Amino acid sequence: MSDPRSRFPGGPPLRERLLAARGVLVAAGLLLLGFAAFNLLSVFYALLGLAVIAAAAVVGPGASVPPRTGRAPENPGPGIGSPWIETLIGKLPDPVIVLDRDGRVVAFNAQASAMAPALGRGEAVSLALRVPEVVDAIRQAGAGAGAQRVEFSERVPVDRWLAAHVAPLELADASGVIRRLLLMTFHDLTPLRRVEEMRADFVANASHELRTPLASLSGFIDTLQGPARDDPQARERFLVIMKAQAHRMARLIDDLLSLSRVELNAHVRPETPVELAAIVRQVADALQMLARERGVTIALAVCAEPLLVLADRDELTRVFENLVENALKYGASGKRVDVSVERAQAADGAGEAIVRVRDYGPGIAAEHLPRLTERFYRIDVGQSRAEGGTGLGLSLVKHVLNRHRGRLGIESRLGEGATFTVRLPLAPHRG
Ligand code: ADP
Repeated sequence: MSDPRSRFPGGPPLRERLLAARGVLVAAGLLLLGFAAFNLLSVFYALLGLAVIAAAAVVGPGASVPPRTGRAPENPGPGIGSPWIETLIGKLPDPVIVLDRDGRVVAFNAQASAMAPALGRGEAVSLALRVPEVVDAIRQAGAGAGAQRVEFSERVPVDRWLAAHVAPLELADASGVIRRLLLMTFHDLTPLRRVEEMRADFVANASHELRTPLASLSGFIDTLQGPARDDPQARERFLVIMKAQAHRMARLIDDLLSLSRVELNAHVRPETPVELAAIVRQVADALQMLARERGVTIALAVCAEPLLVLADRDELTRVFENLVENALKYGASGKRVDVSVERAQAADGAGEAIVRVRDYGPGIAAEHLPRLTERFYRIDVGQSRAEGGTGLGLSLVKHVLNRHRGRLGIESRLGEGATFTVRLPLAPHRG
């Protein structure tokens, strides 16, 4: 059943119902004839039986179906009885409807029927497509205004955007008579629109993130040129803040560039064998200073055997830097961060490396977990900014891991810290 609010209403499938009844009609006809043969019925009823058989035959698979209005179309066009049109449009992936110049349906494919279930051959297309923009385009194309293109949106049953294209067409029918038709095609613009929306959101977010430190910088420049011109103490204080803001802008630009580089290479799988434990050890060492500043101890547990993965060393370094740095920044109150590297077996039996970064900080509420890897998603924007965060770290982690055929798992409960788990397939043995 189609939704009555839809602009593509459904209708009773006349042809299907008649086809379904065909068997019953034939059986009834034969039964009546049988009665007549045994003199159980008059000749009148026998003729009635024959009429019923004839009616059933008319509804047979090869026969044309009369229009639902009961009025035969004056100019049925080449679609009816011209199976090649049906075959041709049946092969096309988008909905296609062939109309005569008065807007009556000549032929349509299965995709068109799925989109507008009430379509019926010989009937006005406006009965099945209640979209004023489209009806208007058909009228104009039919009146000789040339090809028309309109975009429209549907709210029911789901939000979607479509483009309809109506082009005049002249075709010779079976008897060589030229028929003037309209070829109407539809194209689903929904995926394109969604990508456009995402890109617009991304640009808006990135601009907003850059504008804040930029506004602060120009504010301080004004102050230094004006009221604080002769105040060396204020100048020193302001320069420290300005340096931090410039650093924040540089970090954001770095993250944006890294993200776009990883996305650009998303389908190129890294092929260099890299020893994973060495990278994790290096990252932990490099972050010792930050750990000391925060009063946090990093406890490192690395398995003894070398774990080779096919990877881009710099990208994996960024992954573990982001995870350990987050644990030190957001989980500092727990005073301890555990980092472990171990070998395991994936569900399919292949070897995999598992790196876990666990902190004992405030933890993360369940509702945030699925959204943490979205770009610019932060639980507490103020805290993230104060920590020099950009909101892009975990998004970058996810993209890098996708490229390496790896996975990121996040487990946490409020008050119980958080565990970030990275799984990467081990490089196949060579030789
Ligand atoms: P940011 O640059 O803000 O750190 P991320 O993408 O790395 O961006 O992290 C997104 C958000 O996830 C952070 O702002 C923080 O709110 C939350 N988060 C990340 N790691 C942790 C953690 N270990 N404990 C608690 N919250 C975390």
